[in-house]
This record gives sequence, structure tokens and C-alpha cells, in this order.
Amino acid sequence: MRNFRLTVPVLLCLFALSCATHRPPVKTPTTPLRPPGKPVVTTEVRAVWVSETTKLDWDTATRELQRTGFNTMYVNLASAGAALYPSSQTLPSVAGKFIGDPVARGIELAHRRRIAVQAKMVVMFSFRSPPEFQRKLLKSDRVMRGADGKPIVQSGSFWVCPTQPANREAALAEVKEILRRYPVDGVQFDYIRFNEEPSCFCKNCREDFEHALGKPVRHWPGDVLNGELRKRFNDWRQSVINDWAKQLSATVRQARPGIRITAAVFPALERAREEKAQDWKFWLDHGYVDAICPMNYTTDARDFEERCRNVLKFAPRDHVVMGLAEWKFQRPEDLRRQVDLCRQLGLAGFALFSYDDATERHFLPAMELH
Ligand SMILES: [Zn+2]
Repeated sequence: MRNFRLTVPVLLCLFALSCATHRPPVKTPTTPLRPPGKPVVTTEVRAVWVSETTKLDWDTATRELQRTGFNTMYVNLASAGAALYPSSQTLPSVAGKFIGDPVARGIELAHRRRIAVQAKMVVMFSFRSPPEFQRKLLKSDRVMRGADGKPIVQSGSFWVCPTQPANREAALAEVKEILRRYPVDGVQFDYIRFNEEPSCFCKNCREDFEHALGKPVRHWPGDVLNGELRKRFNDWRQSVINDWAKQLSATVRQARPGIRITAAVFPALERAREEKAQDWKFWLDHGYVDAICPMNYTTDARDFEERCRNVLKFAPRDHVVMGLAEWKFQRPEDLRRQVDLCRQLGLAGFALFSYDDATERHFLPAMELH
């Protein structure tokens, strides 16, 4: 940071001198690449989520983000049923037809412009998975199931069960492939939880729970759904997700020591624990993640502040990158007030969902982050 502060005035002087003598044509900034393997270090995290990675114009995006003062991209690279980059050896690639690897080129451009890139993984949801792979998930009984025994489906795609070894192995192979292939500055886990509908009631979960309980459940699923084993079942569900977060985190840290690990989470901790078995405080306390990104998706100023303060009861402020619902705002200045509050509260930073929407509605320049 000190070097950065020293070099900025020097660069400004050089720029002024060059303008005074001649006007060079506008061209891509040629900031040298940072040394390989060394993560881009940011102070305040000013992030955007990128959902539609396969449609992303990396050159335009990184140029615009740099110009408007953003420094981090959370880029969706994989789900439980798809790789959003070409030629994956572990999951079906849905990257489309490109020459070369647009993600590799994009990350290089981002780094040239001093923008950190975190690979986002949609852990338990098979977002963008092709139909043939969806059928495979169903046929091999790897899907998450509700209390009625039916697969849980969102927007036509299955959720997968976190206790099944095949699902875990697929996710671990995926994250290893991403880290082997791309010099990302971090990994973000999203959808690392059970579905909001009571779940999972698959055969494997029943067996695992009964094993942990030490005896069979007499009335399945009634006893665990609303009966005497309800709390035991939810404690077990939390232990499943905690263990999964631990395993994913250890895999990332072993593959690429020093890079950031974050998780997109629900801001209300008690509800997150109860409804989705998502105990993000446990993950922070045990160092599985370096920061959380609570999805504080509201336009109401009071609700937003209340949720921020609730998060801060359980998480250190410098471990919180607050997620803002850019797509819900009509005016950038109202969104900007949430950024100001994040700064007043001393948070690690903020993240807009999403770049895709913000750029379409020209919100980024209006944020005036510099
Ligand atoms: Zn299950």
C-alpha cells in the first residue's frame, strides 16, 4: 500500500508531462503483471458478482471496473453440475465455443488492471447444468430430496445432496481443477447449505443420521421433521455442512496456500442455522473462511442497517464484505448510501449483485468510488 501511495503522484506527474508534450493514442493499460502465484492484495474490497460468466466481455468489464474504482470480481466458474469454462475434465463445460480460454485471458486482463478475481463455486446447486447431466444426477440418486422424497428443483435444475460421496468428490475435483488451471486470487463458496425447503431426506442422509444417532428413526421423516428428533436432525445437518466447508477449505488451502476463501451467506445467523444449516459463524471461528459476504438484499435503509449490525454481533467487521442488492435499486445514489454505511461501520468492503445488471443499467460510473 505504501508503494502504491508513493507511485501515484509520480505516475500523475509523468502523465501530466506526457500530455503537455504529445497526445498518445488511447490504448490498453500496460501495467506489468504481478509475479505469478502472488495474490492481488486489496485494501477495501469493492467487489461485483458476475453471474453470466460465459457471456462476460472481460476486456470491457475489467476496464470499466478499474475506471470506476472496483477492485474485485467474484466470478461464477462452477456449479454442482457445470463448469463455466472450457474443456473441464470433471464436469460438463457450458462455456460455449471460443478459441482458446476466455477465462484465462480474462483473469490476466483483470490482473493487469489490478483487479482481484475470486472463483465462485455454486456448491450444492447444479446451476446451468445441461439436461443430460441432470438426468445422470437423478439416475444415480445424487439429488437433494424434500420430506416428500421428491428431488428439490430450482429453475429447472436439481440441488445435490451434501452427504453423498460422489457429490463431494465432484466438487473437490472441480475446485482442484480451477486452482490448477487459473491464477485466481481466491475462491468463494455459494449455495453451501441445504435448501430452504426442509431437506435432505434421501436414503444416504437417513443412513448417516441414524448412524450418528446410534439407532434407527422409528417414524421417518415425521420424527425429524416435527417430532422429538427435530433438533438433533438440524444439529446433524449443521455438522454436515460445517464438515463440508472444512473439507473444501482445506482442499483450497492445500492447493494454493495464501489465497482468500469467502462464502456468500444469509445475513440472519439464527435463521441461516435453523432453515439452511448454514452456520457461518462456525466457519469464521474455525478459519474455514477468511470473510463472509452476507447477502443483505434490501433497499430499505433501516432494514439494511439492522441486518449489518446483527451480522456484526457474530462476525469481526474486517471479515465482512457486505453483499448489496444493486438490481433492486432504481437510483444509484440510494445504493451509494449503503456503500457509505459499510464504510462508516468499518467493514472489509462491499459487493454488488451483480455486474451483469449494473453494467446494463449504467450504475457503475454513478457509484463514484474513487
Ligand atoms: Zn441427502
